[in-house]
Amino acid sequence: MQLIFEKCRQRRAITFDAIDVPEAVLPAELCRASLAELPELSEIDVVRHFTHLSQRNVGVDCHFYPLGSCTMKYNPKLAEAVAAYPGFSWLHPHLASLPAYHAKCQGALEVVYELERLLAEIAGMKAACIKPMAGAHGELTGVLLIAAYHRDKGHAHKDTILVPDSAHGTNPASAAIAGYKVVEVPSNSDGLTDLDKLRAAMNDNVAGIMLTCPNTHGLFETNIAEIARMAHEVDALLYYDGANLNAIVGQCRPGDLGFDVMHYNLHKTFGTPHGMGGPGSGPVGVSERLLPYLPGPRVVKRDGHFSLETPEKSIGRMTAFFGNFLIALRAYAYILHLGDAGLRDVGRMAVLNANYVLARLKDAYKPAFPATVMHECLFTASPQAEKGVHAIDIAKALIDRGYHAPTIYFPLTVKECLMIEPTETESKETLDAFCDAMIEIARLVDEDPESLRAAPRSTPVGRLDEVKAAKELNCARLSPHLA
Ligand SMILES: *Cc1c(COP(=O)(O)O)cnc(C)c1O
Repeated sequence: MQLIFEKCRQRRAITFDAIDVPEAVLPAELCRASLAELPELSEIDVVRHFTHLSQRNVGVDCHFYPLGSCTMKYNPKLAEAVAAYPGFSWLHPHLASLPAYHAKCQGALEVVYELERLLAEIAGMKAACIKPMAGAHGELTGVLLIAAYHRDKGHAHKDTILVPDSAHGTNPASAAIAGYKVVEVPSNSDGLTDLDKLRAAMNDNVAGIMLTCPNTHGLFETNIAEIARMAHEVDALLYYDGANLNAIVGQCRPGDLGFDVMHYNLHKTFGTPHGMGGPGSGPVGVSERLLPYLPGPRVVKRDGHFSLETPEKSIGRMTAFFGNFLIALRAYAYILHLGDAGLRDVGRMAVLNANYVLARLKDAYKPAFPATVMHECLFTASPQAEKGVHAIDIAKALIDRGYHAPTIYFPLTVKECLMIEPTETESKETLDAFCDAMIEIARLVDEDPESLRAAPRSTPVGRLDEVKAAKELNCARLSPHLA
């Protein structure tokens, strides 16, 4: 044992530089008499451990990742290179807080200013603010802006936000956290917001309505002009959940459609990483009437010089500094790199790819809605479920075939839902291979359902009890090297 330990101690994966400052003399009682009994690892042990772990991880750099509603598209490496420039990555955020240092961070302030200007232009809004740290945080910011607007106008009675039942769960959550009563508006059988039900729910107490377009059924809400008219008639504001903006970017603009306030998901539309729950970025965009309430401080430009100002009636900071600045920088690089024509292609290709998958799979799986789709296509696995193979079995079988599973069982409006979002960055070859795998699985529902229920068999751990897995993490099993 002692021998093994001695050998472990000779391994090193790190070499420290020689000391170039005078050695401090520590009091004798603080010093060890013998070395700490810590096992050590050589560089190759460490490299193998982490490389091995990274290969067990599923990510967009190694797998097609058609996770509906999440837009798991490729994140160009160009943006990573820009975000790594030391001039940005080594900047201390407090430089921006101290006017005396503004001369030292003009470049970073210009990035904030220019990105906000571009985002506003892309969505047809008057201004944008990059501070919110995620889509949901942008929603909260947007609803607080709506609240500030009504408070300013003395609309104390406006206590309700309307949210369609096809919305992402973050919409009602954000409205509730901002203190509003949430009233759900049902969808009609075409998967769109039911106009009659919306009319019935609309009254003078409504402060705003949150709409997603295309919605989480993958469908374009065709009645936005009418919904905007109904909302504005009672001075309710129209909120645009911009998580699916990649489907319409460069084609039409939420501001032109009548929306008053919105959020963007830079990690969905503008090619920045999701990174397992963060860091994200959810800037807000506003029309003219919400300008005075924007979070501050804001970057302003005077005589070619950038400085900070807080709008007079600002709702507050919402976050430290400028949110996830290096994520915003990646989005800025992405937008400049693609340019006008490139951004238009994003919208076109996202829609083309989703409809291609729909066309190839519609005989093997039942589409949830009859219409052509925007950025994602939804199927119901109800016919398969009647034969004992559920959406979750199909998802697990895909993992064995080298694909991340699509979103399943969401939105709740579709039974046994399979929600597939190919995104614009995938080639026809990748989509064909994925569709072939889906079609093979549909065939196995009849020929060998047991093999689907036993999937996945190729992963380090097989089928998990999903509830137990979340509540009783067993790290040793996931990583034998750590055990
Ligand atoms: C992803 C998503 C959100 C929330 O965005 P996060 O950045 O994950 O907080 C909101 N609405 C829709 C429609 C989404 O797809």
